[in-house]
Amino acid sequence: MTMKIDEIKNGIVIDHIPAGRGMTLYELLGLDSLDCPVALIKNAPSAKMGKKDIIKIDADIPVSFDIVGYVAPSVTINLIKEGSICEKKKVNLPETLTNVIKCRNPRCITTTEQELSHIFKLTDRENGVYRCIYCEAAAK
Ligand SMILES: [Zn+2]
Repeated sequence: MTMKIDEIKNGIVIDHIPAGRGMTLYELLGLDSLDCPVALIKNAPSAKMGKKDIIKIDADIPVSFDIVGYVAPSVTINLIKEGSICEKKKVNLPETLTNVIKCRNPRCITTTEQELSHIFKLTDRENGVYRCIYCEAAAK
């Protein structure tokens, strides 16, 4: 499964994903449900990182920067238009995550109130700690 950037006409390349996190990002972004070509490249050599993962999406679809920032705040998102990079975006840890991850505390209200959104707030930016807004359990 190889695809060069110049083979993408209009799409998105998520570069500099820490090796091993590409699949997590792929799943959280729901890329398995897309009809367009999607490539997940694992353990690509990187001068800066040693190894990195890369995701290439050959379609101009909206990608949640919150999810990307949550999984891999170090990434670069390259937006490809007409076969060349038209924009590079950096992401950050988002302040809030809504319906991205679920609270694992069995006594959390979200386990009984199914219609509630799963909302987490960033409580420690340095260590990337998120806590459930209902029960304050830390994510992961
Ligand atoms: Zn909770």
